[in-house]
Amino acid sequence: MSCFVVQSVSKCYKRGTAQEVWALRDVSLSIPQGSFTVLTGPSGSGKTTLVGLLGALDRPTQGHVLFQGQDLGACSDVGLARLRRRMGFVFQTFALIPRLPVWENIAYPLIPRGVARASRYEIARSLLERCGIANTIAKTPEDLSTGEQQRIGMARALAGQPEVLLADEPTSNLDARSADLLLALLHELHSKGNTVIVASHDRTLVSRATVVLEL
Ligand code: ADP
Repeated sequence: MSCFVVQSVSKCYKRGTAQEVWALRDVSLSIPQGSFTVLTGPSGSGKTTLVGLLGALDRPTQGHVLFQGQDLGACSDVGLARLRRRMGFVFQTFALIPRLPVWENIAYPLIPRGVARASRYEIARSLLERCGIANTIAKTPEDLSTGEQQRIGMARALAGQPEVLLADEPTSNLDARSADLLLALLHELHSKGNTVIVASHDRTLVSRATVVLEL
């Protein structure tokens, strides 16, 4: 069973202008359910664009993206929002809320799920410890290094144990030890039957994947 099927997808930015860019052209691929898939390829090959299309954060210019057999192009905005709640995202830019304490940034997606405050704190604390940055819990993202912010972005995505994790270059700012801690968390999510999709050219990540797709 496929988690995602991408059918003849093209994506054009700034179409019809002098800055027109075709980030993807006629791409077809499938990502198995429960796989640990790494999307790799040189900078500019369209990895971030593809991650955005898989996560229904953007729509293709041409072609179709199917999530568990469902065509995302046929879904309403409300339907897409519902699907996105089953996914966890790690953005290249982290997308943290600047003045919110670290633990609340991580626990934020658990609020609509009705998780009590004390449990949210405990989930955040435990993830921070496993990421090797327990000391950041009461700080705010603006006081942290890029590598710390990246790990907090990962902790937030993992807090809800998503069915599908989509991570864009999650180890790009990390030293080898921090990257290993993060990889262990990704493997744990994968070992529970969830699908992990990572855009990366980190060789360690590529070597641990069950599926490697090169763009
Ligand atoms: P990768 O993640 O592999 O580096 P991207 O998906 O970020 O690749 O980019 C693919 C191409 O699309 C690049 O040429 C990039 O400059 C272009 N691109 C990406 N996002 C935009 C955008 N929002 N507007 C215009 N061009 C973009």
